Amino acid sequence: MPTLTVYCSSSSRVDAVFHAEAEAVGARMAEAGYSLMYGGGDIGLMGRVARAVHAHGGHVIGVIPEALREVEGVAYEACDELIITQTMQERKSILFTRTDGFLVLPGGFGTLEEFLEVLTLKQLHYHDLPIVVLNTNGFYDPMVTFFEHLYATRFARPNCRSLYHVAASIEDAMAYLAAYQPINVGQKW
Ligand code: AMP
Repeated sequence: MPTLTVYCSSSSRVDAVFHAEAEAVGARMAEAGYSLMYGGGDIGLMGRVARAVHAHGGHVIGVIPEALREVEGVAYEACDELIITQTMQERKSILFTRTDGFLVLPGGFGTLEEFLEVLTLKQLHYHDLPIVVLNTNGFYDPMVTFFEHLYATRFARPNCRSLYHVAASIEDAMAYLAAYQPINVGQKW
């Protein structure tokens, strides 16, 4: 069964449209036969996705550092597999290595950091897995604009656009994942 790592918000305070889309993502992933690999939390969009995967018969793997589980008490204990790591680094490495692709939903600094890390590693050829950004309600439009600024000012090469896909809908994201073929964008410079 293929596994998809989902990065998304730990905030429960975001608009209802984001909660609804996170649930729809979980449902669609389970239906498409993807296991969910994610940060193991039961908060914000993270909890929504995980619960929706379960509600639709899917498999959930959570990876959470001990400190977040014990101190913050935010783990989704119903995960089919809940992997407790000693450090955040160890957790990130499992989320990164035991997967077939990355799906980025709206999120804050944690999500942005996770997205930029897998993007940067792909740019440097450490992996060639698909990276999809789900642009719910145009949430990521300012980031796309900023990325265009990077290309225009030559801080990144325009062919980096092909390292990720910004999806307008869940179906768009799923179609991209299903059809994905690794491409070589060459050396960074
Ligand atoms: P953020 O976008 O800042 O809300 O951070 C969410 C992302 O960072 C998720 O994809 C998680 O992998 C990770 N993360 C941040 N905070 C937590 C938390 N309290 N519990 C579990 N994972 C978290």
